Amino acid sequence: MSIFGLATCVFNRHDPDRKEVKWNGHDYVGECRHCNVPIVRVSRRHWRKQVPKGQASDNAPG
Ligand SMILES: [Zn+2]
Repeated sequence: MSIFGLATCVFNRHDPDRKEVKWNGHDYVGECRHCNVPIVRVSRRHWRKQVPKGQASDNAPG
């Protein structure tokens, strides 16, 4: 765990525990090695917290 990792977590930028990354048929999903939340890959080296189905409010455009 690093203080830099935690700082990025605050901004919804997470780092996966690479051993735990899986392809679910649609996205790469894993768990943040800093804060242990479920995360999903947005783009290369950019991961964000998974939004549970039916709670897409974090998905606003922009
Ligand atoms: Zn995190």
